[in-house]
Amino acid sequence: MIRKTRQHLVQNEGLLFEQSSPGKKAYQLPALDVPEVNPEEALAGQTRDGIEGFPEVSEVEAIRHFTRLSTYNYAIDLGMYPLGSCTMKYNPRVNEAVARTEGLAWAHPYAPIEHVQGCLEVIHRLEAYLAEICGMDAVTLQPAAGAHGEWTGIMVIRALLESQGNPRKKILVPDSAHGTNPATAAMCGYEVANIPSNDKGMVDVSALAAAVDGDTAAMMVTNPNTLGVFEEQIHEVARVLHAKGALLYMDGANMNALVGLSRPGDFGVDVMHLNLHKTFSTPHGGGGPGAGPVAVKSHLAPFLPTPRVVLRNGRFELEENLPQSIGKVRAFQGNFGVLVRALAYIMAHGGPGLRKATLDAILNANYIRKHLADHYQIHAEAPSMHECVFSDDKQSPHGIRTGDIAKRLIDYGFHPYTVSFPLIVHGALMIEPTETEGKQEIDLFIDAMKSIAQEVVDDPQLIKSAPHRTRTPKVDEVTAARKPVLRWRP
Ligand SMILES: *Cc1c(COP(=O)(O)O)cnc(C)c1O
Repeated sequence: MIRKTRQHLVQNEGLLFEQSSPGKKAYQLPALDVPEVNPEEALAGQTRDGIEGFPEVSEVEAIRHFTRLSTYNYAIDLGMYPLGSCTMKYNPRVNEAVARTEGLAWAHPYAPIEHVQGCLEVIHRLEAYLAEICGMDAVTLQPAAGAHGEWTGIMVIRALLESQGNPRKKILVPDSAHGTNPATAAMCGYEVANIPSNDKGMVDVSALAAAVDGDTAAMMVTNPNTLGVFEEQIHEVARVLHAKGALLYMDGANMNALVGLSRPGDFGVDVMHLNLHKTFSTPHGGGGPGAGPVAVKSHLAPFLPTPRVVLRNGRFELEENLPQSIGKVRAFQGNFGVLVRALAYIMAHGGPGLRKATLDAILNANYIRKHLADHYQIHAEAPSMHECVFSDDKQSPHGIRTGDIAKRLIDYGFHPYTVSFPLIVHGALMIEPTETEGKQEIDLFIDAMKSIAQEVVDDPQLIKSAPHRTRTPKVDEVTAARKPVLRWRP
């Protein structure tokens, strides 16, 4: 029995183009009471003749179309979203209320400094809080996402090494790394060298020691790593790198497991990024705005992007004159609305609240791990932090792979977990509940996963052909990716 879903009223919905009939309008305007201007003349030939097949519908048709489409979506506001590595936590509404404050939401980036002292204080304070949380000395809020933060951080490392006379040639990346790490290293002009993991799922320090040399600029490590395992030897990793003049970069996407418990700056990290849209609660998914602040130790601070917000004689100013800076990486101050949400989240929780959130995130992941350990193959023996990684080893003999299980999970009313990542785990199921789920929802999830494990044995075909309860049945993902149809034609 599927306890969470019922057959839900989801109406068929064509494209808006198909609902169009010529001459329909979604507005009524009063008669013109000013002289009519000929747009052709006024705009000197800049006007379009018309848009082929532009949909013409009434107001209620437009509203119903988009409202119906919205019911096709899964969202964190509907239920648990256990997408590992993505930290899909519920985003408290207070963040939204604060971000919509008039003086913040409507501030103009070219407004005189005197008029935006409050906005600059938001930036200054958030930088200070994030520096404290990470145990680092300086923070830039400019980068727009995690991957952009990685690029900024490695460019800062490159600038420091160049200032010492040699940018060096390569960046080390563990085999468990997120794909953005090697991509970042390559974009910054470095060669990528892979470091294997040991049988505990952690960086193999002896392999690292053998690989570090005078050509090594840095190592990029995610901690806890993408197996959800804390890198217990991280001090040693830092020591080995520093002894050869190389730096330790931390991918901080998994800070949801560390905030309030452990500070990367204290375990030897030189540069790191945060994903505000993961750890610090901004709605994400679907490519909306995010923020990827970069935190550095003091010796790297002179290289951070300009301008820097500084406090001089009780007044916030924008310091542009930083000769060693890598320059701007984003227009103005980055995605300011996301910064406001993060500050609201931090201030609403306070230090003890943030710590409690971390502990709950870890508890939730371990609760799931414990309850599913008999049904799915757990990957790493080391204890889990905020997410747990299984493999489909118990299901694959029945011809069922992780992607099939994920599709069946949709029938049970959950968004799928992360499928087939990290790459070092063959057939990975990566599950991250986050702290915002209560026991009831997590128990439903566990029931669903156990029930699917049983279905794999009893009726593998049911899983293979899932999902069955969605409006659109199983789609052909390969064709969708290779031959996407992106444009409707009349
Ligand atoms: C999400 C994530 C990234 C990339 O962050 P974006 O904000 O999506 O650019 C990098 N590394 C890890 C481990 C991640 O989970």
